[in-house]
Amino acid sequence: MNDKYIFCPMCAGSLTVQREARDEHDRLTCLKCGFVFYQNPMPTVLAIIEKDDQLLLVKRKNKPFKNSWTLPGGFVEVGQNLEMALRQEIQEELGVKIDDFSYFGSYVSQYHTKFIMEDIVCTVFKTTINNYEFKIGSDVADAKFFPKSGLPEIAPFKDVQAIIKKLIKEKL
Ligand SMILES: [Zn+2]
Repeated sequence: MNDKYIFCPMCAGSLTVQREARDEHDRLTCLKCGFVFYQNPMPTVLAIIEKDDQLLLVKRKNKPFKNSWTLPGGFVEVGQNLEMALRQEIQEELGVKIDDFSYFGSYVSQYHTKFIMEDIVCTVFKTTINNYEFKIGSDVADAKFFPKSGLPEIAPFKDVQAIIKKLIKEKL
């Protein structure tokens, strides 16, 4: 639970950490109106795109971890399922379409914003794409295939680090 939030979003009363009798988690609760601030992880999606023994990475253009390399993907928007979100991110970042998805795994992680450390749950798909002529979007600085034995410095996101570790292990 992130206890950095101060005011109730319903009535602007003060939020206090409380635990209901049948609840296994502490929650920020408003003592004035009773609103309970349930904090669920934000869903994100990442794509593993491979060509021969190479892995596609994108270079981050923005904070956090500006200029380090990571897997393409992003946050799921309201109204999207995981596949829709990943299609949109890949279209925006690389200008290509996803042909095929296969589930790789899901990971618990965190994302630092300017204000807060967001808890996220990341779903990862191995995907194939319709072509390799990328039109790089405004959110990324570069996109390149790297041999798995010679990857550049990867952004220290917990999920991305764990995924790449697993990918390299699979090859051994
Ligand atoms: Zn309130």
